[in-house]
Amino acid sequence: MKSHNTKSQEQRDKRKIVFVTGTRADFSKIKSLMGKVEDSNDFELFVFVTGMHLSSYFGATVGEVEKNGFKNIFKFINYDKYYQMDKALAITIDGFSRFVNEVQPDLIVIHGDRIEPLAAAIVGSLNNILVAHIEGGEISGTIDDSLRHAISKLAHIHLVNDEKAKQILMQLGENEDSIFVIGSPDMELLGHNTLSLKEAKEYYDIDFENYAIVMFHPVTTEFMNMKTQSENLVSALKASGKNYIVIYPNNDLGFEFIIESYEALRGLSNFRLFPSLRFEYFIALLKNADFIIGNSSCILKEALYLGIPGILVGSRQNGRAGSQSVLKVEAQSSEILQAIGQIHENKSKVDETHIEILDSSERFFAYLQSNAFFEIPTQKVFRKIVM
Ligand code: UDP
Repeated sequence: MKSHNTKSQEQRDKRKIVFVTGTRADFSKIKSLMGKVEDSNDFELFVFVTGMHLSSYFGATVGEVEKNGFKNIFKFINYDKYYQMDKALAITIDGFSRFVNEVQPDLIVIHGDRIEPLAAAIVGSLNNILVAHIEGGEISGTIDDSLRHAISKLAHIHLVNDEKAKQILMQLGENEDSIFVIGSPDMELLGHNTLSLKEAKEYYDIDFENYAIVMFHPVTTEFMNMKTQSENLVSALKASGKNYIVIYPNNDLGFEFIIESYEALRGLSNFRLFPSLRFEYFIALLKNADFIIGNSSCILKEALYLGIPGILVGSRQNGRAGSQSVLKVEAQSSEILQAIGQIHENKSKVDETHIEILDSSERFFAYLQSNAFFEIPTQKVFRKIVM
């Protein structure tokens, strides 16, 4: 009988690696690793694209994924018209389960703390497929911590930023042999970014000489006063009289309040609003910004590394390392405005920050090639700390 499998022997022998991406935020952190897998002869890359990436409202960032030219891209819409998070989780489990059944991967790679990696970790662990989780063991604050730790408990392999993250995972009962320090893969890309400010400004038609970047996301546990918080931010930004590049929030519970309050900025000559910026262009603009304000993780990572002063508004990054180097304010207009007025004095503090960048994609690929990941058992054993 003729086989229905039209793949060559070589393709059949390759190990299949599925990467899951749901937002611009995780894509910037996994794309260098995906590139290594795509270029290799030993592995076959599959990319499961879902979440905000497919929403035109949030900038249809699937285009960013496609521009990389990956051969096997699968798109799956997981949201309803309200972007309800628990429903999106359930839908993603269903869709990803069917995808995995078809592809039969050897390894699922996920990043971070959102519902898409949680769904993939559930599907992987329940189907006895190895799951590798990037950037577990971080502490930030809010619901993100709960999701991230839940993902770590389901994942078999942990690819972490540093020794501190490794210790946190061991405190959660994870086995030391399953934890690999590879550094933060998006930080590695900072050094490779050669796009000029001129190119970035031209691409987005931005003509500000000086400007700051605004990135403010909802805090789900503070859903009831996100409207007030975002209106306070908007009124302080307006009162400061400076130029701002404003980037939309993610689609966590309460995002509508933030986007609605940004409507008051539309049409003002010192504000430009964008659902999302392409990563390389975002970095080029960030490098030249006077400061960055909001509650994005970027304030304590890329911006801090690049020496761009930051103002953290509200509680979203309360537990994250590095917050002593930036200004921290409550989401109140007067406090925010005062911080904007003092931001130039904070430059020296930022300069003292040392963030180590590791060759993340090289490390990841070396582990992949040496079979280190494939030797990790899918049966997890809780590692007790002797007290
Ligand atoms: N980012 C991007 N384009 C943008 C905004 C963000 O490429 O317009 C990338 C950037 O690498 C940033 C990351 O997405 O560090 C995460 O940013 P975001 O504030 O969206 O998410 P968070 O990590 O705070 O949840």
